[in-house]
Amino acid sequence: MRLRVLGSSSEGNCYLLESRQGTLIVEAGVSISHIRKSLQGGLKCVEGAIISHRHGDHAKSVADLLASGIRILAPHDVFASIGAEGDPCARGIEKGRGYRFGDFKVMPFEVKHDVPCVGYIIMHPEMGRLLFVTDTMTISQRMPEHITQVMIETNYADDILERNIESGAMPVAMRKRLMFSHMELGTAKRLLQRMDLSEVANIVLIHLSSANSDEERFVREMAISTGKLVYAADEGREFNLSLEPY
Ligand SMILES: [Zn+2]
Ligand SMILES: [Zn+2]
Repeated sequence: MRLRVLGSSSEGNCYLLESRQGTLIVEAGVSISHIRKSLQGGLKCVEGAIISHRHGDHAKSVADLLASGIRILAPHDVFASIGAEGDPCARGIEKGRGYRFGDFKVMPFEVKHDVPCVGYIIMHPEMGRLLFVTDTMTISQRMPEHITQVMIETNYADDILERNIESGAMPVAMRKRLMFSHMELGTAKRLLQRMDLSEVANIVLIHLSSANSDEERFVREMAISTGKLVYAADEGREFNLSLEPY
């Protein structure tokens, strides 16, 4: 299983999970041409797409993917906001349900953003269980056991945000917006410390703010806090998420 990062910021988020059999698109916040170009087997290899919420940096290409016949799982308002509720490929999330795309199984769970938003547990025989969480102030649910991979938002650090507000680089209102809609580094560290990480191979930090984060420091602090291999999801990067490398 290979993870490829097509984008991971407020400019656009999109990840490809490529198994031997097919690809799952996670978020569609980059242009359809970027997605098409990056799909090595073309659109026919895509098992489906899963979207966390309706903001453009996550859902920009939903209409184009539906038009290409790709099955998409997302909160209902993602489809309602573009008038695509009746599309045969649009699947609105029902609470407590799991879904299957080829050999991928996904279980959505609600998170706290400023619009309806979900995280996902993504399961595949090649990879085990991936926790995917973005655009949320925190997670309140208990996470299942046997998580093997983590992709988690670390949008900002309190001290960097404070410095930017004091210097006038960020408006004061940004503090409240971020506090209630995005994940702070310390929150992410505490969440992961509460989880059983014994089977986790990699932690990939996603959706870092360009102004309020520090990639090198976030990776270092998360590695110290968890004792795991930690990476940042820079655009163009690839990661091997296989249980057994091939
Ligand atoms: Zn976002
Ligand atoms: Zn958002």
